[in-house]
Amino acid sequence: MAQIQEKYGVNKALEALKVDRDTKGTSFGGELFGNGAKIDSFSPVDGEKLGTVASTSSSDYEKVISSADAAFTEWRKWPAPQRGEVVRQFNDELRRLKPELGKLVSYEMGKSYQEGLGEVQEMIDICDFAVGLSRQLHGLTMHSERPGHRMYEQWHPLGVVGVISAFNFPVAVWSWNTAIAWVCGNACIWKGSEKTPLTSIACQKIASRVFEKNGVPRGVSSLITGDAKVGELMTTDHRVKLVSATGSIRMGKAVAQTVAKRLGKSLLELGGNNAIIITPNADIKNTVIGAVFGAVGTCGQRCTSTRRLIIHEEVYDQVKDALVDAYKQLRIGNPLDENNHVGPLIDKDSVDNYRKALEKVKAEGGNVLVEGDVLTGEGYESGCYVKPAIAEAENHFDIVQEETFGPILYLIKYSGEIQNAIEKQNGVVQGLSSALMSTNLREAEQFLSAEGSDCGIANVNIGTSGAEIGGAFGGEKETGGGRESGSDAWKAYMRRQTTTINYTKEIPLAQGIKFDL
Ligand code: NAD
Repeated sequence: MAQIQEKYGVNKALEALKVDRDTKGTSFGGELFGNGAKIDSFSPVDGEKLGTVASTSSSDYEKVISSADAAFTEWRKWPAPQRGEVVRQFNDELRRLKPELGKLVSYEMGKSYQEGLGEVQEMIDICDFAVGLSRQLHGLTMHSERPGHRMYEQWHPLGVVGVISAFNFPVAVWSWNTAIAWVCGNACIWKGSEKTPLTSIACQKIASRVFEKNGVPRGVSSLITGDAKVGELMTTDHRVKLVSATGSIRMGKAVAQTVAKRLGKSLLELGGNNAIIITPNADIKNTVIGAVFGAVGTCGQRCTSTRRLIIHEEVYDQVKDALVDAYKQLRIGNPLDENNHVGPLIDKDSVDNYRKALEKVKAEGGNVLVEGDVLTGEGYESGCYVKPAIAEAENHFDIVQEETFGPILYLIKYSGEIQNAIEKQNGVVQGLSSALMSTNLREAEQFLSAEGSDCGIANVNIGTSGAEIGGAFGGEKETGGGRESGSDAWKAYMRRQTTTINYTKEIPLAQGIKFDL
């Protein structure tokens, strides 16, 4: 079985990335260390062990946070464009190692090799963005009400930024945060997912090598490894000025409360329950392609995966039949084999959640159109491969209201005006991504208006999944409200300072107040 690792070049990728199989998961640059509990990393592709990583103990963490804190006091003095130059060089290394890092992402997490490469491409894109941004961290100037005064605002780095990330985007989310946070002048500590520890180590090693070559203070890029308890070392620590956390709503609620208790800042990127509205004016062929990719891509394990289709009764049967047909053609198997469309779920717990969700939708009165199943036999030895399923359901079903992190698609019928569909689309607690399939301008504008989608992302004539780094990414309601990546998301990693300078010989007070001595 270790055959897959050999056949598909996973061994070579580890070698090129200089990642050992028996290793340690703590670093603030230079050597890896750590004496916490050991974590085994098993691939969902074939169930084989990829490696073992010693996690971060609280004394290890202490070394990391004090180095990061000290590094920040130096790093903030570097001109931002010089910080950008380091990120540019880091990006050169990402470009060079893209095939190997993409392979490791694919094998350790279980997404297709193409998607693994796509994730590294997102890292490359955000680094490009960050390099340009390093010359544009600008504030506004305002006219003072007092004569001879100048007023403006400027942006300063926050300090140590903690990044907690989820298993499903094991590298891109880190760089969305760090590439921007670094050029802003922060030191970053990353706790990747305990399900993808070797991938995190590979990234930290790339950053450390480039940073060391440039004389960047050790601690600007740091890594800690472990489960929620290790994450809590950062959320409870007042030295971590911002905690940027990506993961489930359950995790986000815990993190938000802990960080708020010490009045720290948090940036939350949490679960979604994304829908596509399909009106009678939809281009059905494109709609089906967008919906199938959105529902089964990454085995339904994207925060932006399509979970609900809200279909007008006039085109309901047509869409339903086309989907059932399309699902018959899906090839499920080894994601490193480019002939397959759907890879495995991350682990057996996730398989259990998928199974339970299918039972629940039946129990609530749903009608399963494409049966789900856990696949067994040759090629499915990891026990993590499942069949994508489709069920007819109602929006108010408890199970439809939840995010099940797997390939289950719910079909929901609507009738009458588009506003009825929008009501259903918005009728969940999550608010990440949404889409409308319609070639009708009025419908599109209604969907995008203030009475339309209440999500952070609203697309027309493309699906819910996939995002470009140039836009700000994130969602509303229980998705957490955070924004990462492009646009002006960089402001979350800096503090705003309003400055007034008096260049007169007087000291006039604001609001015309007199205070004569
Ligand atoms: P998860 O919530 O189980 O874990 C995410 C990370 O949080 C892990 O690193 C974990 O160790 C850490 N963690 C968990 N509890 C913590 C706590 N109390 N304190 C500190 N750290 C804690 O999520 P997962 O299963 O890895 O990922 C899937 C979830 O992530 C889905 O809900 C998905 O929608 C969401 N997600 C959201 C986005 C987004 O941008 N909105 C992106 C990717 C994934």
